[in-house]
Amino acid sequence: MLYSLWRSLSSTLWYPPLLLQVLLDTNFLNMSVVNKLDIARGMLDCLAASVTVYVSECVMAELQKLGPKFRIALRLARDKTFVQLPCTHKGTYADDCIVDRVTASRIYIVATCDRDLRRRLRKVPGVPIMYISGHKYTVERLPDAAFLAPR
Ligand SMILES: [Zn+2]
Repeated sequence: MLYSLWRSLSSTLWYPPLLLQVLLDTNFLNMSVVNKLDIARGMLDCLAASVTVYVSECVMAELQKLGPKFRIALRLARDKTFVQLPCTHKGTYADDCIVDRVTASRIYIVATCDRDLRRRLRKVPGVPIMYISGHKYTVERLPDAAFLAPR
């Protein structure tokens, strides 16, 4: 009750009521498992907005290739509420795929804990980056008005 009140308050303050789109990478899924974070709940807490979570085909393939240690992350990635994005590129190198996607259309917040990928993403203007800090999700370059404007 209190939570929903806070949520509606914060949305009237500066978040228009719309859906944010978050694109997950391989290591964010695994780090969420390691930190025992519920993705949907954690994102709601972090962004105070409804979120659609996207996982690309190559991220799924990477998780499969990584074997048993990433089995829980793979199961997490198969969440029925997540949207699977088909890939047309060759190979399973997800970092390039994610950078290409956000460069082509800046509609995603990218969720990654990978330092190299975060460095690459910072070069793309207007792409918020979500990562894990202190066992919770946090966003650098919070969505500004232009990002949140309906399109
Ligand atoms: Zn891909």
